[in-house]
Amino acid sequence: MTILDGKATAAALKKEIAQAVQHIKDNGGKTPHLAAILVGNDGASETYVNSKERDCREVGMNSTVIRMSAAISADELLQKVDEINRNDDIDGLIVQLPLPRHINEQQIIEAIAPAKDVDGFHPLNVGRMVTGLPSYVSATPDGIVELLAHYNIETAGKHCVVIGRSNIVGKPIANLLALKATPGDCTVTLCHSRTRDLKSLCLQADIIIAALGKPEFLTADMVREGAVVIDVGITRIPTGTENKFRLVGDVKFDEVSLKCRYITPVPGGVGPMTRVSLLKNTLKAAKKEIFG
Ligand code: NAP
Repeated sequence: MTILDGKATAAALKKEIAQAVQHIKDNGGKTPHLAAILVGNDGASETYVNSKERDCREVGMNSTVIRMSAAISADELLQKVDEINRNDDIDGLIVQLPLPRHINEQQIIEAIAPAKDVDGFHPLNVGRMVTGLPSYVSATPDGIVELLAHYNIETAGKHCVVIGRSNIVGKPIANLLALKATPGDCTVTLCHSRTRDLKSLCLQADIIIAALGKPEFLTADMVREGAVVIDVGITRIPTGTENKFRLVGDVKFDEVSLKCRYITPVPGGVGPMTRVSLLKNTLKAAKKEIFG
């Protein structure tokens, strides 16, 4: 069994991104700049945005965090998005989700200029990704594909079972792995809460991607010998000590790891790859690689 070390892989990719940023600067180019809008003061969102800011700093990119009150109206938020869309100094824009309930997330996502949509959530980018055109691919599926590529894991002709059909993980990774590409060329089964007999589908899988958000859901009896298991899940479980928690994935690592050929740990697997993919997209945006 080999552990797919997302932390080390992401660190190597980050180095390459930092070099590319330095190259742009050395040639008199503008420093790549990521803007993040954070609405309200949700603790997890705050942590995610802070780490994105730190990542940008580490690779020499600029970052701006725009903090807005949870009481903001949809119109005010749309106005801010529009302002950033028109700001030539900002290459990429993310709006940290979830948004307060009174704001329609899809309306906000669709207001982001596709050329700055480094989260890859805009329907134009999603459509381009599904048709195999250059696009911003959302960070988590992109990170998974990078990790498979980094470890030269054969995907062509393999049966991949994806558990979870969210717009940010399940659906895009299922589509990416079904593309005529490398990694790709998989036969994909996309599962969800209404899927019947998930266990027997998992037992037919060469590759399982668990992205359902249920701690330790995937157990050894659901995995066949030699499978590749990618654990996307992150659930924060309180440790009982004040304000402390541990991160638990969707895979029962101790028992599943004994059966599979490759497995990602939590933490240190898909998470760091997700973070580096956002930097990759921001670099692409700065270089105008997708939309010219
Ligand atoms: P989500 O939007 O809550 O979607 C969960 C999906 O799992 C849904 O499609 C749901 O089916 C399906 N599901 C729930 N229970 C199921 C069951 N018993 N059997 C089969 N399918 C089931 O979740 P998400 O945003 O994709 O996130 C999934 C997990 O990944 C979470 O733990 C999240 O924290 C984590 N995550 C990690 C990263 C990272 O960087 N590592 C990034 C994003 C998300 P229905 O559609 O039928 O409801």
